[in-house]
Amino acid sequence: MPIPLLTATATGGPLDPAQLAALAVLGFLGWRLLAIWIFPYAPCRHCRGTGKHRAGRYWRPCSRCKGTGRRIRLGRRVWDWTRSTDTTRR
Ligand SMILES: [Zn+2]
Repeated sequence: MPIPLLTATATGGPLDPAQLAALAVLGFLGWRLLAIWIFPYAPCRHCRGTGKHRAGRYWRPCSRCKGTGRRIRLGRRVWDWTRSTDTTRR
C-alpha cells in the first residue's frame, strides 16, 4: 500500500521517503489499534457472524463462538493479554 506514495515522493518531496514510509507504517498501526479498540469483535469465521451453523438438516449454535456470532480479534486478544500480565498475574 505505501508503494505508490513512495514512488510519488521519491522525485524530491519535502519528506524523506524513509520518513514517509515510517509515517505510513505508524498511521497504519495507529488505525489498526483504534479499530481494535473500538471494534474488538469480528464476525465469527465459522458461522460468518450468524451464531449458528448447519449440522445436516438442523441449525445448531456455533461451537466456535458459542452462538454469539462474534470472535475476538487477534489484536484484541494480544492487547488483553499484555494488560493482564502487566497488572495481575493469571
Ligand atoms: Zn460462530
